[in-house]
Amino acid sequence: MKMRRRDPLVMIPGPTPVDPSILKAMDVVTYGHTYGPFVEIYRETLAGLKEIFGTKGEVLAVGGSGTLAMEAAVVNILSRGDRLLVVSHGVFGNRFIDIAARYGIEVDVLTAEPGEVVAPAVIAEKLASGNYRALTVTHVDTSTGVCAPIREIGQLAREHDVLFIVDGVCATGAIEEPMDEWGIDIVVTTCQKAFGIPPGLTILGIGPKALDRRQEMGVISNYYCDWDLWLPIMRDPTKYFSTPPVNLILGLHQGVKMVLAEGLPQRFARHWLYGKAMRAGLAALGLEFLADQDCAAPTLSTVLYPQGISDDKFRATMLRNHILVAGGVGSLAGKLFRVGHMGNIAESELLVTLAAVELTLKELKYPLTLGAGIAAAEAVLRG
Ligand code: PMP
Repeated sequence: MKMRRRDPLVMIPGPTPVDPSILKAMDVVTYGHTYGPFVEIYRETLAGLKEIFGTKGEVLAVGGSGTLAMEAAVVNILSRGDRLLVVSHGVFGNRFIDIAARYGIEVDVLTAEPGEVVAPAVIAEKLASGNYRALTVTHVDTSTGVCAPIREIGQLAREHDVLFIVDGVCATGAIEEPMDEWGIDIVVTTCQKAFGIPPGLTILGIGPKALDRRQEMGVISNYYCDWDLWLPIMRDPTKYFSTPPVNLILGLHQGVKMVLAEGLPQRFARHWLYGKAMRAGLAALGLEFLADQDCAAPTLSTVLYPQGISDDKFRATMLRNHILVAGGVGSLAGKLFRVGHMGNIAESELLVTLAAVELTLKELKYPLTLGAGIAAAEAVLRG
């Protein structure tokens, strides 16, 4: 009889597999949110996040999602009539356009062909031509799998004196983005990707220039998103504004500890290696990618379906092989699958995912040699 595991391994680009130590940290009686031991844990978590963000500014971790973090960044530094430049590499880049439009912000957009990134020279030219207050760039756009050259763009943002918002939802904690060093004024992120926590948190890193701009704005028309209401609680969690998701913060505390215990440089290097290994394995099976290899993300891969392989059948068969991968989003639906390789996963989980891809393709009559993908990935992992 065929054995079946009850739950598949979740290899979509978020939520990512949750380490048992994180689940264990959350699996306690819910503390009062201003109760001493919880306050200490909240403080430690925020201090750890500050280290990860690399900023002398502030950090915020509250109930919400990545999208709420994006909206908070926009409403705290921009007001009606301000000009915003959006560099979009896909669905999540475009989300900033929609958010800004709701608030009457004037938006210009730079886009690239799917799978490519906008060249920094093009961004420089645009910044020189317009009087922009801010610039948004998605570090890794999870729809296309491209990774933007944040360091170079941060340099441009400084030169042109615009506030630089980076969407780190699919990057923070996996890819380097030291805020103060790279000229990033705000990082918006969340917990269910590289931190490997169940979803439900809005996380922001806010640099000194963004804090100054918030002061200049005075009262804003958004309430829950207003940093001025939240920051006193982040500085002193014995205070109350709105009840935080206590058990998720306990999970984040453990997740942040894991990131720092691994070491930031080591964790970033591991993600670059995993990305390379996964793509080497898939390429050895003859598969191709949407993202250009010189800008392919360390955190996920966007894998084009070969002729004759349908999205429905592929993902259903993968699931029977106990691995959950994601389909394409927006105009890319049906054309590719997305596989995550971020957070607290092990080499063995990469390899088992590749094994499932091999078995699935074989079952769907795609010609391949079983084991070829795994061997290529292992060769990269062994260096
Ligand atoms: N930005 C990026 C790059 C994302 O991948 C996502 C979620 N996939 C979001 C923003 C939105 O985050 P959330 O779903 O937590 O609102």
